[in-house]
Amino acid sequence: MACTRPPSAPRSAISNVNETSVFLEWIPPADTGGRKDVSYYIACKKCNSHSGLCEACGGHVRYLPQQTGLKNTSVMMVDLLAHTNYTFEIEAVNGVSDQNPGARQFVSVNVTTNQAAPSPVSSVKKGKITKNSISLSWQEPDRPNGIILEYEIKYFEKDQETSYTIIKSKETTITADGLKPGSAYVFQIRARTAAGYGGFSRRFEFETSPVLAASRDQSQIPIIVVSVTVGVILLAVVIGFLLSGSCCDHGCGWASSLRAVAYPSLTWRCGYSKAKQDPEEEKMHFHNGHIKLPGVRTYIDPHTYEDPNQAVHEFAKEIEASCITIERVIGAGEFGEVCSGRLKLQGKREFPVAIKTLKVGYTEKQRRDFLGEASIMGQFDHPNIIHLEGVVTKSKPVMIVTEYMENGSLDTFLKKNDGQFTVIQLVGMLRGIASGMKYLSDMGYVHRDLAARNILINSNLVCKVSDFGLSRVLEDDPEAAYTTRGGKIPIRWTAPEAIAFRKFTSASDVWSYGIVMWEVMSYGERPYWEMTNQDVIKAVEEGYRLPSPMDCPAALYQLMLDCWQKDRNSRPKFDEIVSMLDKLIRNPSSLKTLVNASSRVSNLLVEHSPVGSGAYRSVGEWLEAIKMGRYTEIFMENGYSSMDAVAQVTLEDLRRLGVTLVGHQKKIMNSLQEMKVQLVNGMVPL
Ligand code: AMP
Repeated sequence: MACTRPPSAPRSAISNVNETSVFLEWIPPADTGGRKDVSYYIACKKCNSHSGLCEACGGHVRYLPQQTGLKNTSVMMVDLLAHTNYTFEIEAVNGVSDQNPGARQFVSVNVTTNQAAPSPVSSVKKGKITKNSISLSWQEPDRPNGIILEYEIKYFEKDQETSYTIIKSKETTITADGLKPGSAYVFQIRARTAAGYGGFSRRFEFETSPVLAASRDQSQIPIIVVSVTVGVILLAVVIGFLLSGSCCDHGCGWASSLRAVAYPSLTWRCGYSKAKQDPEEEKMHFHNGHIKLPGVRTYIDPHTYEDPNQAVHEFAKEIEASCITIERVIGAGEFGEVCSGRLKLQGKREFPVAIKTLKVGYTEKQRRDFLGEASIMGQFDHPNIIHLEGVVTKSKPVMIVTEYMENGSLDTFLKKNDGQFTVIQLVGMLRGIASGMKYLSDMGYVHRDLAARNILINSNLVCKVSDFGLSRVLEDDPEAAYTTRGGKIPIRWTAPEAIAFRKFTSASDVWSYGIVMWEVMSYGERPYWEMTNQDVIKAVEEGYRLPSPMDCPAALYQLMLDCWQKDRNSRPKFDEIVSMLDKLIRNPSSLKTLVNASSRVSNLLVEHSPVGSGAYRSVGEWLEAIKMGRYTEIFMENGYSSMDAVAQVTLEDLRRLGVTLVGHQKKIMNSLQEMKVQLVNGMVPL
């Protein structure tokens, strides 16, 4: 037999990262060493991104199908840590590799895992138990993979899983009350971070304390009575259902009157008349002229449908109006009022929703445009994109029903809560928006009107992109102005190439995202203040950019400037923005370096004349105008008696003068900036 050798290294290894899983694939070695028994071994190293030092991964990583003796040229590693740098070495070995005193032959691949949802809660302990309540406490998941925003606790009486209760808690303890005595209850808990919900914990079973035998017997009586009543009603409803045949035409009136009379909380007949996810969808098929590829979801422009009604029903579920309860008006849309209310679907608990209505007397085009938004929204499914529940088109008023966002639009919310959030909270909001935008750009959808006013925020401070439309988005937006080439454009948020020659792309959405970053970091300040649209276009064309918001981390301002690169190809992509923000969130100390307050001001002073030569005649008049008149005396006493002197004021000076309220500091500094910008007609030169 001829002598054989160890194989050479595998070749062309590629990796694919999905949250905390990594898939590796490679080509067999060029030289198998003259043997047929080549197999592969995977070495895993976890590396510190700063020091570059690596250590063995340890036992928590799982290899599918295995780590050693791999016959195939691919492997999957799961349960890696989130946001961690790993190096995988793929080594080819054969029957004589062990005899080889020389260096190992491997190919290595470096990857960084992404943000993952938190791992399940693994330990839950019972606390105080009474006959009607159970208190629980638990430990944070082993791998939270981010800041835990809240826990969701699901519980139900044992063997009664269809009727469960959900409680949300920011703490790691809860008390479930209103329980039946002497009954077993099953609890499951899951944690939520900005990346979404983790998996539910395993089931934990606890029992309420029993009551004395006599009273237990008595307490059973109403239960039996209720059970019998419910049983009879159930039977009646099922028989009614069988007799009535179709749901929509005659069912609802009957069902809702039965509901009203016999059992107020039953909603048997309400529900979707069309399932959203077609099980065939995963397979490749040809549909209305669009080829759908398995696994590749792309946005379909509803305009491509000959019949727009078909598009709506393709992408949106029809909801029966009787399932919706309108509660109050919360806003005004272009087509009618926006209301809050509740939706009760079959087999689900009632939950809050927002309802957009189409006002009476609409034209066919208005109806089409109104429902166009639903046809677009219905194609998306992402935690940072506003979720469409469905539409009402078969009765009037026509409605679009979406998830309810308690805090409304982001710009108004930030203005109302000026200075109230930590930098990490603000970056969390920005991360959410970037993640939603990444999803949209992956789907091939260009938003064109990304601005804080078009982001909605819920009670957990989760931001979601909203306001989808075709041409109407811009028609609808009061910020949009007509350009010389026709068409309405929200100038302050729009990239120069989109203003100049309507080149709207995901890269122009990135520009707008940079403006949203600026809006968020300045708590809803108006970009470019009161400059006119024409002045904004001119300043941006000349290479000026918005200055950093006050107290803004340098890394974030740099990211804004990157988004505002003139060359659209040089701007970061949304996935890079998400990764960058994730990195900052993981390493909060990187947010400590703020844009230097004095450089922030002096940027604006470069080559420009001093402030005040026309705008205000005195310091007092200026401070009065911005409702800060209370500081006039302090300014005068400290030598800031002229507008020229005021021009030199820095944030440190303000603090020294005793202006300690952040809101007041901002008002004064922003007013100074605004005056300077107006005077010099320029911002920070790039
Ligand atoms: P729109 O026509 O989408 O711009 O909506 C008008 C206003 O209604 C918004 O500025 C919000 O204040 C409010 N609104 C719209 N959708 C929702 C929602 N899903 N949840 C809460 N408020 C909403």
